[in-house]
Amino acid sequence: MSSTTPHSLPIFRNEPFIDFSSAENKRAMREAIERIRMELGRTYDLIIGGSDLQTSTTFHSVNPANPAEVVGIHYTATVHQAAQAVETAQLAFANWRRSTAADRASLLLRAAGLLRQRHLEFCAWLVLEVGKNWGEADADVGECIDFLEFYAREALRLDAATTPIQYPGERNLLRYIPLGVGAVIPPWNFPLAIMAGMTAASIVCGNTVVLKPSPDAPTIAAHFLALLEEAGLPDGVVNLIQGGPEVGRAIVEHPQVRFIAFTGSRKVGVEIHEVAARTQPGQHFLKRTILEMGGKDAILVDADCNLDQAIAGVTASAFGFNGQKCSACSRVIVDAAVYDVFCDRLKEAVESLTLGSPAENLQTGPVINQTARKRVLDYIAIGRNEGRLLTGGVEVDLPGKGYYIAPTVFADVAPTARIAQEEIFGPVLAVIKSDSFEESLAIANSTEYGLTGAIYTHSRAKLERAAEDFHVGNLYFNRKCTGAMVGAHPFGGFNMSGTDSKAGGPDYLTLFTQAKSIAEKLT
Ligand code: NAD
Repeated sequence: MSSTTPHSLPIFRNEPFIDFSSAENKRAMREAIERIRMELGRTYDLIIGGSDLQTSTTFHSVNPANPAEVVGIHYTATVHQAAQAVETAQLAFANWRRSTAADRASLLLRAAGLLRQRHLEFCAWLVLEVGKNWGEADADVGECIDFLEFYAREALRLDAATTPIQYPGERNLLRYIPLGVGAVIPPWNFPLAIMAGMTAASIVCGNTVVLKPSPDAPTIAAHFLALLEEAGLPDGVVNLIQGGPEVGRAIVEHPQVRFIAFTGSRKVGVEIHEVAARTQPGQHFLKRTILEMGGKDAILVDADCNLDQAIAGVTASAFGFNGQKCSACSRVIVDAAVYDVFCDRLKEAVESLTLGSPAENLQTGPVINQTARKRVLDYIAIGRNEGRLLTGGVEVDLPGKGYYIAPTVFADVAPTARIAQEEIFGPVLAVIKSDSFEESLAIANSTEYGLTGAIYTHSRAKLERAAEDFHVGNLYFNRKCTGAMVGAHPFGGFNMSGTDSKAGGPDYLTLFTQAKSIAEKLT
């Protein structure tokens, strides 16, 4: 592999978004979807130590907008294969940990370059496997490129780190060395960016990985691994196994797994935390967990704010990708002085959203699967008793028989209602009335989560108060609460939203390393 030095790299910049209003880009995106359609239904192997492996059982990943369309067929790893993947990663660690930071960073940069060339192709996989519209798919691919570029630079920075002080008469060093084998367990909703981000952070620090993607998005992960291999990834550094909770549990428990990088639900994150805390026979370290979990994110709307911007921001935050973002706004807390007008205008904005096939780039699409459909409909039934239905509340039958649910808003919801406390992870928004700014802040902080939040106000004093007391990992002023940008908005939440790992930030890579202090007496 070729070497790169920190000095030869241009300053990090976020990947620009694609302008899909241009006729040329529209045509290119349609062509990419058609090309990828020709590849649907292929069978993908597990990859352990660079070798392709099969098993006796397979599962299908389908298009949520058209569940009859099989996107990919994948082998389900056995528990034995999960262990084999960990042991293979452990063997590969012996060499990979000795590779230079410059070489590992170069690998990420080459992968970023390849992904840029195939940007629309990966967008098309996201459209077809998880139902993202073009803009959401573009943001996912762009974020993935950003993670690769950003972590390459961060790894070089960390490699050049030293102790803050040189003790007189000594030469002092501080080296950030890798941990060992990591289990990388991503969710389905950012199946490229988050999956690749946790993987890239692990390997650029010299760790090796067992990657177990979500069974709702296995094909995107298989294509990303192929891209890493093309970029020069040595065998065994990333091992791909597919399957559900049993496979995930098997790697989390394995005594040779040194750390777990997980993003997903609160329930699974808590379970992983507990399982990882129990030492296994033969395990001679404490496992580290890097856990990013759910949210119940709130936007505060003050009486003195730009209401047009607030309506647009709340609508985008709540219904972008159908509310299937950890950062999605699921509660909007509105000052009583503007409550009625806000509700009327929000209803109008939400009803103007177009619902339909992501391949046709409509604003809102299907939810991911049958289980999600049922969960969201169950919460809508609960919401009918907990609030006043402003709009939505129904399933929508569209060609393709996708899992479509109309964007749904309940008004007059009590802060303690279930739909105001529990993560629904779908297109359902609760509107809560508040009599004062103090009360709004207290309501915002009244769930067990603490991921994102936003406030719309013209008052500098209220913004400053929110900066102090709105207890979330990612707080936004006069803008939506979704759409974190790598580098500018390091991402991660408080409380039951996770371990606040701040992906895309300056502290993230240290989580994937351990610091070794070396002191030499000068003679
Ligand atoms: P999930 O928790 O159901 O699954 C996440 C991953 O864990 C999947 O790969 C799954 O197969 C695996 N898994 C399931 N049970 C397991 C077990 N017992 N042991 C080990 N692995 C197991 O989450 P999901 O439905 O894929 O994603 C949606 C959730 O992710 C939402 O709660 C959302 O808020 C959260 N999320 C959080 C962030 C963040 O940065 N905080 C980002 C995206 C999504």
